[in-house]
Amino acid sequence: MGWLIGVLGVLVLALMAPIVLVAGALGTMATSGNSGSSSPYIEQLEAVGYENGRLPPEALNVVSSRQRYECQVARVGSADQAWMALVVAAELDGVDIEGGWCYRTYQSQVAAWNRRQCYIPGNCDGDPYPPTARPGTSRHGWGLAIDIWGASDVILGCSAPELLWLQLNAPRFGWINPDWARCGQPGSEPWHWEYVGSELIVPTGENGLLPEDGKEETT
Ligand SMILES: [Zn+2]
Repeated sequence: MGWLIGVLGVLVLALMAPIVLVAGALGTMATSGNSGSSSPYIEQLEAVGYENGRLPPEALNVVSSRQRYECQVARVGSADQAWMALVVAAELDGVDIEGGWCYRTYQSQVAAWNRRQCYIPGNCDGDPYPPTARPGTSRHGWGLAIDIWGASDVILGCSAPELLWLQLNAPRFGWINPDWARCGQPGSEPWHWEYVGSELIVPTGENGLLPEDGKEETT
């Protein structure tokens, strides 16, 4: 029984932390009206005046650099530190992963949108392919999403062996492959992982996310 109270105590404390921070930053209790499109971390970045795709250098941390790409993650919550810890944990298990495409500026999101919208030559009116977030809405613009590359130096596909390790372990570090991006979904993006914070994850939950009711109980 003692262990259960201990675990619950840690959970409640962990859940309180981001809520208190956000409330402090905004001077009021923040609620996420449109579930899924916001997060306490985005709200914290917005609260200090930052905009999607326009984060200043001091808000970002370079967590790795490949030959062509520099992977930057927002210094919010523990997003950057948690990512680096995740990479080390993977390495210890013999799994080689690396952040390929991470923070994306507004301009580069616009460029990606325009380029991909014309994926089918002559057809620039349709949805972009590969699917691309509308400029100003991507989690990449907040430095809270990473497209992961594997040992064979390619972006992770559904058959990538690294994917199983990530599914089992990354949520402990607060990084998840969102439901819409999972293999089997139309337009899946198994390489796309987002930081939601380990304090927002129930260790035994099916996809690691707390139901809304669970959050309210701690306020
Ligand atoms: Zn992505």
